[in-house]
Amino acid sequence: MHIRTGDTVVVIRGEQVGERGEVQRVLLGRFGGRMRGKPNPNNVRVIVAGVNLITKHQRRTGNVRTQTGRIEREAPIHISNVMLICPHCGKPTRVGHQILEGGVKVRQCKNEECRQTMD
Ligand SMILES: [Zn+2]
Repeated sequence: MHIRTGDTVVVIRGEQVGERGEVQRVLLGRFGGRMRGKPNPNNVRVIVAGVNLITKHQRRTGNVRTQTGRIEREAPIHISNVMLICPHCGKPTRVGHQILEGGVKVRQCKNEECRQTMD
């Protein structure tokens, strides 16, 4: 996957266009919505800190320590709706891959003036 936990991304589609945040989780979807089988690369979503907040109404359950009332939390965003921000040039970028000596695969910024590797 070209986006990983800890990356900074910007939203490029939807209601939150232009908002930036750090990726907290990458959620790999599964075929048919079942929790088995191979991850479906067309159904990958990310949780971005502070972006795409929804208000959840949490009812009291048996657990006394459970937070109740209105809770703001991040809803997953489809990976095609975000773009990676390059930590070197600070611009949204497409991601290329480069194979280093020893066969290590690293991500590379595709911006013309940058072309830095990221891993
Ligand atoms: Zn760059």
